[in-house]
Amino acid sequence: MYYAKYMLHRDDPPREFASEEARMKALNHQVRPAADVARILDKVQVPNILWGTMAAYLVGDWRHYNEDIQFLVLDDLIQTASNALFAAGFTTCTDPGCDVVKTVKNDYLIPPVHFHIQALYPEHDVLRLYPKSSHLWWLPDFGTSTPAADDPHLMLSNDPRLPPYKPEGMSGPWTELYPIKILNRSSFTEAVLLLCFRDFDHANGLYFQWLDLINAAKMHPEGITLRPKFQAMWEEFTLPKEQLRRRRWEPVVELMKEMRANNELPPPPRINWFGTVEGAERARAWF
Ligand SMILES: [Zn+2]
Repeated sequence: MYYAKYMLHRDDPPREFASEEARMKALNHQVRPAADVARILDKVQVPNILWGTMAAYLVGDWRHYNEDIQFLVLDDLIQTASNALFAAGFTTCTDPGCDVVKTVKNDYLIPPVHFHIQALYPEHDVLRLYPKSSHLWWLPDFGTSTPAADDPHLMLSNDPRLPPYKPEGMSGPWTELYPIKILNRSSFTEAVLLLCFRDFDHANGLYFQWLDLINAAKMHPEGITLRPKFQAMWEEFTLPKEQLRRRRWEPVVELMKEMRANNELPPPPRINWFGTVEGAERARAWF
Protein backbone atom coordinates (compact mmCIF):
# COMPACT_ATOMS: atom_id res chain seq x y z
CA MET A 1 0.00 0.00 0.00
CA TYR A 2 1.55 3.17 1.23
CA TYR A 3 5.18 2.12 1.31
CA ALA A 4 5.42 1.53 -2.42
CA LYS A 5 3.82 4.91 -3.05
CA TYR A 6 6.14 6.59 -0.61
CA MET A 7 9.27 5.08 -2.15
CA LEU A 8 8.10 6.20 -5.55
CA HIS A 9 7.71 9.73 -4.21
CA ARG A 10 11.17 9.76 -2.67
CA ASP A 11 12.75 8.47 -5.86
CA ASP A 12 11.24 11.14 -8.03
CA PRO A 13 14.04 13.06 -9.73
CA PRO A 14 14.48 16.67 -8.65
CA ARG A 15 12.77 19.08 -10.95
CA GLU A 16 14.92 21.68 -12.53
CA PHE A 17 13.56 24.83 -14.08
CA ALA A 18 15.18 26.80 -16.85
CA SER A 19 13.78 30.02 -15.40
CA GLU A 20 11.51 31.45 -12.73
CA GLU A 21 8.83 31.77 -15.43
CA ALA A 22 9.12 28.06 -16.20
CA ARG A 23 8.84 27.25 -12.51
CA MET A 24 5.72 29.36 -12.02
CA LYS A 25 4.17 27.88 -15.14
CA ALA A 26 4.66 24.35 -13.79
CA LEU A 27 3.31 25.34 -10.39
CA ASN A 28 0.30 27.16 -11.81
CA HIS A 29 -0.54 24.19 -13.99
CA GLN A 30 -0.34 21.85 -11.04
CA VAL A 31 -2.43 23.80 -8.52
CA ARG A 32 -4.88 25.54 -10.88
CA PRO A 33 -7.69 23.03 -10.18
CA ALA A 34 -7.52 23.88 -6.48
CA ALA A 35 -7.67 27.61 -7.24
CA ASP A 36 -10.71 27.02 -9.44
CA VAL A 37 -12.46 25.01 -6.72
CA ALA A 38 -11.77 27.70 -4.10
CA ARG A 39 -13.13 30.40 -6.43
CA ILE A 40 -16.31 28.42 -7.12
CA LEU A 41 -16.92 27.70 -3.42
CA ASP A 42 -16.09 31.22 -2.24
CA LYS A 43 -18.54 32.59 -4.80
CA VAL A 44 -21.43 30.65 -3.24
CA GLN A 45 -20.26 31.53 0.28
CA VAL A 46 -19.06 28.04 1.22
CA PRO A 47 -16.07 28.46 3.55
CA ASN A 48 -13.38 26.06 2.36
CA ILE A 49 -9.77 25.08 3.06
CA LEU A 50 -7.35 23.25 0.81
CA TRP A 51 -6.12 20.15 2.59
CA GLY A 52 -3.76 17.21 2.06
CA THR A 53 -0.58 16.81 0.06
CA MET A 54 -1.28 19.76 -2.19
CA ALA A 55 -1.63 22.05 0.84
CA ALA A 56 1.69 20.64 2.06
CA TYR A 57 3.41 22.06 -1.04
CA LEU A 58 3.28 25.39 0.79
CA VAL A 59 4.37 23.92 4.11
CA GLY A 60 7.54 22.10 3.14
CA ASP A 61 7.27 19.63 0.29
CA TRP A 62 6.29 20.62 -3.25
CA ARG A 63 5.97 17.30 -4.97
CA HIS A 64 6.61 16.89 -8.58
CA TYR A 65 3.53 14.98 -9.55
CA ASN A 66 -0.17 15.66 -9.31
CA GLU A 67 -1.70 14.60 -6.07
CA ASP A 68 -5.36 14.18 -5.50
CA ILE A 69 -7.02 17.38 -4.42
CA GLN A 70 -8.83 17.61 -1.09
CA PHE A 71 -10.97 20.38 0.31
CA LEU A 72 -12.60 20.72 3.70
CA VAL A 73 -15.81 22.72 3.95
CA LEU A 74 -18.06 23.64 6.87
CA ASP A 75 -20.04 20.53 7.71
CA ASP A 76 -23.53 21.76 6.95
CA LEU A 77 -22.50 23.21 3.58
CA ILE A 78 -21.10 20.13 1.91
CA GLN A 79 -24.19 19.69 -0.28
CA THR A 80 -24.12 23.35 -1.26
CA ALA A 81 -20.45 22.89 -2.19
CA SER A 82 -21.23 19.81 -4.23
CA ASN A 83 -24.06 21.57 -6.08
CA ALA A 84 -21.88 24.57 -6.89
CA LEU A 85 -19.11 22.41 -8.30
CA PHE A 86 -21.62 20.39 -10.31
CA ALA A 87 -23.05 23.61 -11.74
CA ALA A 88 -19.49 24.63 -12.69
CA GLY A 89 -18.97 21.46 -14.73
CA PHE A 90 -17.55 19.00 -12.20
CA THR A 91 -19.26 15.61 -12.41
CA THR A 92 -20.19 14.10 -9.05
CA CYS A 93 -19.27 10.42 -8.85
CA THR A 94 -22.10 8.19 -7.67
CA ASP A 95 -20.57 4.83 -8.66
CA PRO A 96 -20.84 2.56 -5.59
CA GLY A 97 -18.01 0.43 -7.04
CA CYS A 98 -15.60 3.37 -7.36
CA ASP A 99 -12.19 2.89 -5.72
CA VAL A 100 -12.59 6.20 -3.90
CA VAL A 101 -15.47 4.81 -1.80
CA LYS A 102 -14.16 1.29 -1.25
CA THR A 103 -14.19 0.34 2.42
CA VAL A 104 -11.11 -1.90 2.38
CA LYS A 105 -7.50 -0.92 1.63
CA ASN A 106 -8.52 2.68 1.12
CA ASP A 107 -5.71 4.99 2.22
CA TYR A 108 -8.09 7.96 2.37
CA LEU A 109 -11.14 8.52 4.50
CA ILE A 110 -14.18 7.90 2.30
CA PRO A 111 -15.34 11.35 1.23
CA PRO A 112 -19.08 12.10 1.30
CA VAL A 113 -18.63 13.77 -2.11
CA HIS A 114 -16.00 13.28 -4.79
CA PHE A 115 -15.41 14.14 -8.42
CA HIS A 116 -13.24 12.63 -11.14
CA ILE A 117 -11.73 15.66 -12.77
CA GLN A 118 -9.64 14.29 -15.68
CA ALA A 119 -12.10 15.69 -18.21
CA LEU A 120 -11.48 19.22 -16.89
CA TYR A 121 -7.83 18.75 -15.85
CA PRO A 122 -6.28 15.88 -17.82
CA GLU A 123 -3.29 15.49 -15.51
CA HIS A 124 -5.30 15.34 -12.31
CA ASP A 125 -7.41 12.58 -10.89
CA VAL A 126 -9.82 12.96 -7.97
CA LEU A 127 -11.23 15.88 -6.01
CA ARG A 128 -12.42 14.87 -2.55
CA LEU A 129 -14.67 17.03 -0.37
CA TYR A 130 -14.83 16.44 3.37
CA PRO A 131 -16.66 18.09 6.25
CA LYS A 132 -14.27 20.22 8.29
CA SER A 133 -14.98 18.20 11.45
CA SER A 134 -13.54 14.97 10.02
CA HIS A 135 -10.04 16.47 9.88
CA LEU A 136 -10.02 19.77 11.83
CA TRP A 137 -12.50 19.21 14.66
CA TRP A 138 -10.61 21.76 16.76
CA LEU A 139 -10.78 24.62 14.27
CA PRO A 140 -13.49 27.23 14.91
CA ASP A 141 -15.89 27.86 12.01
CA PHE A 142 -14.73 30.58 9.64
CA GLY A 143 -16.08 32.58 6.72
CA THR A 144 -15.20 33.14 3.07
CA SER A 145 -13.52 36.48 3.53
CA THR A 146 -9.74 36.95 3.63
CA PRO A 147 -8.37 35.86 7.02
CA ALA A 148 -7.26 38.71 9.26
CA ALA A 149 -3.51 39.34 9.38
CA ASP A 150 -3.46 38.05 12.95
CA ASP A 151 -5.67 35.00 12.36
CA PRO A 152 -4.06 32.26 14.46
CA HIS A 153 -4.73 29.48 11.94
CA LEU A 154 -5.80 30.65 8.48
CA MET A 155 -4.13 32.50 5.64
CA LEU A 156 -4.22 32.57 1.84
CA SER A 157 -2.11 30.60 -0.61
CA ASN A 158 -0.69 33.79 -2.14
CA ASP A 159 0.40 35.30 1.20
CA PRO A 160 3.88 36.85 0.93
CA ARG A 161 4.59 35.63 4.47
CA LEU A 162 4.80 32.08 3.14
CA PRO A 163 8.45 31.07 2.72
CA PRO A 164 9.81 31.26 -0.82
CA TYR A 165 10.41 28.31 -3.10
CA LYS A 166 13.26 26.03 -2.11
CA PRO A 167 14.52 23.28 -4.41
CA GLU A 168 13.42 19.97 -2.86
CA GLY A 169 11.32 21.97 -0.41
CA MET A 170 8.26 24.18 -0.39
CA SER A 171 6.68 25.66 -3.51
CA GLY A 172 6.61 29.28 -2.37
CA PRO A 173 3.35 31.29 -2.42
CA TRP A 174 0.97 30.79 -5.33
CA THR A 175 1.00 34.40 -6.44
CA GLU A 176 -0.50 34.07 -9.90
CA LEU A 177 -3.73 32.23 -9.13
CA TYR A 178 -6.96 32.81 -7.23
CA PRO A 179 -6.03 32.78 -3.51
CA ILE A 180 -7.05 29.65 -1.63
CA LYS A 181 -7.69 29.50 2.10
CA ILE A 182 -5.15 27.30 3.87
CA LEU A 183 -3.91 26.59 7.37
CA ASN A 184 -0.70 28.44 8.15
CA ARG A 185 2.35 26.16 8.34
CA SER A 186 2.25 25.89 12.13
CA SER A 187 -1.46 25.07 12.31
CA PHE A 188 -1.08 22.60 9.44
CA THR A 189 1.66 20.84 11.39
CA GLU A 190 -0.44 20.71 14.56
CA ALA A 191 -3.39 19.43 12.52
CA VAL A 192 -1.46 16.48 11.09
CA LEU A 193 0.08 15.68 14.48
CA LEU A 194 -3.40 15.57 16.05
CA LEU A 195 -4.70 13.34 13.24
CA CYS A 196 -1.72 11.05 13.70
CA PHE A 197 -2.31 10.91 17.44
CA ARG A 198 -5.97 10.05 16.79
CA ASP A 199 -5.30 7.31 14.23
CA PHE A 200 -1.80 5.93 14.83
CA ASP A 201 -1.81 2.11 14.66
CA HIS A 202 -5.59 2.12 14.39
CA ALA A 203 -7.21 -0.39 12.06
CA ASN A 204 -8.45 2.49 9.87
CA GLY A 205 -4.96 2.74 8.37
CA LEU A 206 -5.27 6.49 7.91
CA TYR A 207 -2.11 7.30 9.85
CA PHE A 208 0.17 6.52 6.90
CA GLN A 209 -1.16 9.69 5.33
CA TRP A 210 -0.58 11.67 8.51
CA LEU A 211 2.99 10.38 8.87
CA ASP A 212 3.61 11.42 5.29
CA LEU A 213 2.33 14.94 5.96
CA ILE A 214 4.29 15.20 9.23
CA ASN A 215 7.39 14.35 7.23
CA ALA A 216 6.47 17.04 4.70
CA ALA A 217 6.29 19.62 7.52
CA LYS A 218 9.52 18.32 9.04
CA MET A 219 11.49 18.98 5.85
CA HIS A 220 11.76 22.69 6.66
CA PRO A 221 10.84 23.19 10.34
CA GLU A 222 12.15 26.76 10.38
CA GLY A 223 9.26 29.17 10.85
CA ILE A 224 6.97 26.48 12.27
CA THR A 225 6.11 27.33 15.87
CA LEU A 226 3.60 25.19 17.70
CA ARG A 227 1.52 25.73 20.79
CA PRO A 228 3.48 25.11 24.03
CA LYS A 229 1.97 21.66 24.32
CA PHE A 230 3.64 20.58 21.07
CA GLN A 231 6.65 22.85 20.82
CA ALA A 232 9.25 20.96 22.92
CA MET A 233 8.34 17.71 21.20
CA TRP A 234 8.55 19.37 17.77
CA GLU A 235 11.95 20.89 18.49
CA GLU A 236 13.34 17.54 19.54
CA PHE A 237 11.67 15.74 16.64
CA THR A 238 13.19 18.08 14.07
CA LEU A 239 16.75 18.13 15.45
CA PRO A 240 19.50 17.37 12.96
CA LYS A 241 20.39 13.68 13.04
CA GLU A 242 23.72 14.17 14.84
CA GLN A 243 22.03 16.01 17.73
CA LEU A 244 19.45 13.32 18.45
CA ARG A 245 19.76 11.77 21.91
CA ARG A 246 17.04 9.16 21.42
CA ARG A 247 15.05 7.76 18.54
CA ARG A 248 13.47 10.51 16.49
CA TRP A 249 9.86 9.44 16.92
CA GLU A 250 10.05 8.82 20.67
CA PRO A 251 8.98 12.32 21.78
CA VAL A 252 6.09 12.16 19.30
CA VAL A 253 4.88 8.83 20.65
CA GLU A 254 5.27 10.10 24.19
CA LEU A 255 2.98 13.09 23.63
CA MET A 256 0.52 10.90 21.72
CA LYS A 257 0.26 8.50 24.65
CA GLU A 258 -0.22 11.37 27.07
CA MET A 259 -3.02 12.93 24.99
CA ARG A 260 -4.72 9.57 24.52
CA ALA A 261 -4.55 8.88 28.25
CA ASN A 262 -6.09 12.30 28.95
CA ASN A 263 -8.91 11.76 26.43
CA GLU A 264 -7.84 14.82 24.47
CA LEU A 265 -8.53 13.24 21.08
CA PRO A 266 -11.76 12.36 19.29
CA PRO A 267 -12.44 8.70 18.49
CA PRO A 268 -10.81 7.50 15.24
CA PRO A 269 -13.05 6.87 12.22
CA ARG A 270 -14.24 3.31 12.67
CA ILE A 271 -13.23 1.70 9.43
CA ASN A 272 -10.99 -1.30 8.88
CA TRP A 273 -8.33 -0.86 6.21
CA PHE A 274 -7.54 -4.56 6.46
CA GLY A 275 -11.08 -5.75 5.80
CA THR A 276 -11.04 -8.45 8.45
CA VAL A 277 -10.52 -8.45 12.21
CA GLU A 278 -7.87 -11.16 11.78
CA GLY A 279 -5.98 -9.08 9.21
CA ALA A 280 -5.99 -6.06 11.48
CA GLU A 281 -4.90 -8.15 14.46
CA ARG A 282 -2.04 -9.69 12.48
CA ALA A 283 -0.87 -6.12 11.78
CA ARG A 284 -1.30 -5.30 15.48
CA ALA A 285 -3.78 -2.56 14.70
CA TRP A 286 -6.27 -1.57 17.35
CA PHE A 287 -10.02 -0.97 17.04
ZN1 LIG B 1 -15.59 7.89 -8.08
